[in-house]
Amino acid sequence: MQIASLTVDQVRDGLRARRFSAVELAREALRFAEEQNPATNAYLHFSPERALSAAARVDEKIARGEDAGPLAGVPVAVKDVIVTKGVRTTCGSKLLAEYVPPYDATAVIRLEEAGGVILGKTNCDEFAMGSSNENSAFGPVRNPLAPDRVPGGSSGGSAAAVAQGTAVLALGSDTGGSIRQPASFCGVVGVTPTYGRVSRYGLTAFASSLDHIGPLARSVRDAAVLLGVIAGRDPADATSSGAPVPDYTDSLDGSVKGLKLGLPREYLRDLTSETGDLIAAGVATLRKLGCEVRDISLPATDYAVACYYIIATAEASSNMARYDGVRYTFRSASSGTLSEMYRNTRGEGFGAECKRRIMLGTYVLSAGYYDAYYLKAQKVRALIARDFARAFEEVDAIVAPVSPFPAFKLGEKIDDPLAMYLSDIYTITGDLAGIPCMSVPCGKTAAGLPVGLQILTRHFDEPNMFRLADAFERARAN
Ligand code: GLN
Repeated sequence: MQIASLTVDQVRDGLRARRFSAVELAREALRFAEEQNPATNAYLHFSPERALSAAARVDEKIARGEDAGPLAGVPVAVKDVIVTKGVRTTCGSKLLAEYVPPYDATAVIRLEEAGGVILGKTNCDEFAMGSSNENSAFGPVRNPLAPDRVPGGSSGGSAAAVAQGTAVLALGSDTGGSIRQPASFCGVVGVTPTYGRVSRYGLTAFASSLDHIGPLARSVRDAAVLLGVIAGRDPADATSSGAPVPDYTDSLDGSVKGLKLGLPREYLRDLTSETGDLIAAGVATLRKLGCEVRDISLPATDYAVACYYIIATAEASSNMARYDGVRYTFRSASSGTLSEMYRNTRGEGFGAECKRRIMLGTYVLSAGYYDAYYLKAQKVRALIARDFARAFEEVDAIVAPVSPFPAFKLGEKIDDPLAMYLSDIYTITGDLAGIPCMSVPCGKTAAGLPVGLQILTRHFDEPNMFRLADAFERARAN
């Protein structure tokens, strides 16, 4: 058993052939992950008890001859912004360093019902705010392919674990690119589903109108299986969709001939040359597969970063208000009056980036400025969504880079928030429009740094997105 390169299919076949039991696999996966973790700091903590009891349930089902589920025995990592009952959930923040949630996120429940085995919780930027994983209160994550570089963020731990082979699958969250960008930087597959496709119940809110839970995996097929498990209506999240959940693996049939693809010119302007060359080669591969690629324009893209950083910070400032030292968070030791207690707790607990966003968000929501900033940003958001809707009248899918550059050095951008924000330039548009989008590996630079190709489709058209990504993945493998 090659633990670091296992696939969902291999786990299923191995269990079926009794080459290993789910408990044996879980033990080995935990041992391997704990041994490898110091190299990356991808996991913040492990959940061996929970993993072993989930694995034991899988073995019992198999012994009884029952179907143990599509993820039976599969080792999974969960980003630490997604709550797990009885297992610490820190959100990468000092404020929640000791927080043990009393309930499970819906995605976590579904994952375990499908037989998945949660090994532990992965590192991330504090409350998912960041693009490099350097905003974690528990230290940065190192890119497993280049240890002096960032893994991307904010789901850097989840992407690194999958790339490092210390999990077969991982759950991440994406508000402005936090699944696709680290997937691109670490050379794995990352999927941001349609807004509402996966319940947000139990996902710690950052910017509620933009937050998504989604899969990270080493193959398109594995990501498609995981999305099928976690997707679907949840009464606990009013924004979750009741649209039926197809079997996403049905669409991995290679039939991409004649698909019309759009290549937005606004996404090709600021690329580093190597990224540009790899994307061009990726587009050539798609043409060879019989896709028809045409140039399109998404003119409102120019305003996307500004629009996102107004809406996301506004919502964040409101969502962060609950961390007041009264309920679940740490409380400052130097607290006198109630308002001093609030101030000291929040002052000591939040990291610099969260504070910056709370201030920005509070400012853009303040009475005199609401119309000038927040309302205007909402209008721009509508324009961005309209650009996509118009493009999809002409094309079936859009292809683009995920990031203007590959993984950068640790520390390179941390003192320049604007440069950091600009690394999201190609990913935040998909979140603002609420459409499904993903990153699929597209090759490596001369220095061995992975570059991801982004695929975006119409609302709920995950099947065509997976179809294209899978055909692309296979063409590259040959
Ligand atoms: N990098 C973006 C930000 O800092 C996106 C984060 C995310 O998707 N959670 O807000």
